[in-house]
Amino acid sequence: MARPGKSVSVGIGDDCAVLRLPRGHEALVTTDFSLEGIHFRRDWQSAECIGHRCLARGLSDIAAMGGRPIAAFLSLGLPSAVQQRWVDGFFRGFLGLASKLNVQLAGGDTAESRSGVLADVMVLGSVPRGRALLRSGARPGDQIYVTGELGRSAASLRDLMSGKVRKSDIYPEPRIAVGEWLRKNRVASAAIDQSDGLSTDLSHICKAGGVGAVIEASAVPVHPESSLELALHGGEDYELLFTAPGSKRLPGKIAGIRITQIGEIVKGRSTHVVTDGRRLRLQARGWQHFRR
Ligand SMILES: [Mg+2]
Repeated sequence: MARPGKSVSVGIGDDCAVLRLPRGHEALVTTDFSLEGIHFRRDWQSAECIGHRCLARGLSDIAAMGGRPIAAFLSLGLPSAVQQRWVDGFFRGFLGLASKLNVQLAGGDTAESRSGVLADVMVLGSVPRGRALLRSGARPGDQIYVTGELGRSAASLRDLMSGKVRKSDIYPEPRIAVGEWLRKNRVASAAIDQSDGLSTDLSHICKAGGVGAVIEASAVPVHPESSLELALHGGEDYELLFTAPGSKRLPGKIAGIRITQIGEIVKGRSTHVVTDGRRLRLQARGWQHFRR
């Protein structure tokens, strides 16, 4: 039984969870369906890693809005052949991340699945009223920033698909503290979490704001095990991509995480990448998960 926290008045064990939002806050709600064979493979990742990643997706969305997560809900479909040991590992990964970021598992459901493991995760967060970071605020002249390094998840997938490695566990850390810092300091004009790949996530910001963007390829912080191509188009790094007016001075690190300026918002509707002095159209080539 979950121990009631400050925000969770009643957790697991009653018909509903009873949740309390801080005064003057609005609720943030996000859901993510993680399906075996599409979002993860049990032969490629450990149960702990899969549990962690299923929750990380939702927490990253809360981070992108500048919010603070409160509670998570997990509905799990399990084939009868899945062993208890695997389920225990899944929960270790899921609950490990939850406790690290002060999120309570406040409810959920389980059922037998006839087609692989299915994990449906809902995360509830809160943000002061009217202060959520949206995708839509980018204006021409704003600078574009990313947290951390890009392309690591895509590089690991490349290595798994090519048979170079048998297993690969990557535990992305949702950038909750960075998102909160950006909101509190009123720095970001627009924000999104990098789940589908930089090219695609940037296109979402551009579309929402009715603007274009130019990225400097040499400025993109590529993970040492990855490549520029994977950093531009690979997904699931769960870093934050955000814009800020040119007048705002940003520190090199926020909450201990490196911040890199990679380009600028411009007028128009198209996104370009400048590489070796050439200006190329940046196509939004999103993350295809394990599908070819
Ligand atoms: Mg998102």
